[in-house]
Amino acid sequence: MKNKYSIIIIPPEHEKAPNQIQFSIKAKKIIVISSAAFGLLFSGMCIHDIYQSYYIKSYQQKIAYVDQLELELQAKNLEIARLNEKSAEINDNLLAIASMEKKIASILKIDQETSETEPSRGNFSLQSYSEPASLDQASALLENQKQKFEEYYDVTVKQEDKVNHTPSILPVNGPISSDFGYRRNPFGRWTSEFHTGIDIACPVGTPVMAVADGIVTFAGWDGYWGRKVQINHGFGVVTFYAHNSKLVVNVGDQVKKGQVVAYSGNSGRSTGSHSHYSAYVNGELVDPLIFTTLTKEQ
Ligand SMILES: [Zn+2]
Repeated sequence: MKNKYSIIIIPPEHEKAPNQIQFSIKAKKIIVISSAAFGLLFSGMCIHDIYQSYYIKSYQQKIAYVDQLELELQAKNLEIARLNEKSAEINDNLLAIASMEKKIASILKIDQETSETEPSRGNFSLQSYSEPASLDQASALLENQKQKFEEYYDVTVKQEDKVNHTPSILPVNGPISSDFGYRRNPFGRWTSEFHTGIDIACPVGTPVMAVADGIVTFAGWDGYWGRKVQINHGFGVVTFYAHNSKLVVNVGDQVKKGQVVAYSGNSGRSTGSHSHYSAYVNGELVDPLIFTTLTKEQ
């Protein structure tokens, strides 16, 4: 029994004899070391399991993140495809605008090569738009087109202003009773005179209209023309309407095309009720019908 350890196992009822297990000091050492080794192994396995579960958890998070990235990538690809489609659409519209711009320039008779704003238009030309434009190119092109259309707007406003200031109607609607030019003198049967305008037959009191926009430069009595209204339309054009019975404008008034400026009559040197209409271009008398003829031809 010496140098041996004993473990006595006593049964619960104390009826049976106790069991005795003996082992040496060496065996005790082996048991202790084995238990410690087993404990260490068990702890190691537990730590490994814990580490592994953390690792799997983080890996699962990474997989979820990658899945999310994949979904985002798909959405971005769809967005890029949509943007490419839009970009192609914008390109087509830019081409259409460039083509339309060229037509407008042609109608407005704007020489695109010598246009005043040409130097600021950048390096773009119609030819360079044949390839799909990048966003930078499209932006530059739009800026360029904006400048052109601003220029065309100015030109159009000037042309509209010129059109409004160019005679295109007759002051009175009625038959022409005497033309412009040499005619038999209505006051002297066997002599001729130069008729400085046209006569339009109309009853006394017929509204006499301005034939274009302008400023009244004479409104009053004239020994020869009776009650006369004269309008300066700018661009070298002046018209007057004579033999009126009543004037309804004053010198300095701004009048619009079609605005009533007088009522016809038989005042001054006149043989009957009519409206006399004369026109000057750059100080030279012209046949007033050239304006209405020109307008009709257009
Ligand atoms: Zn006349």
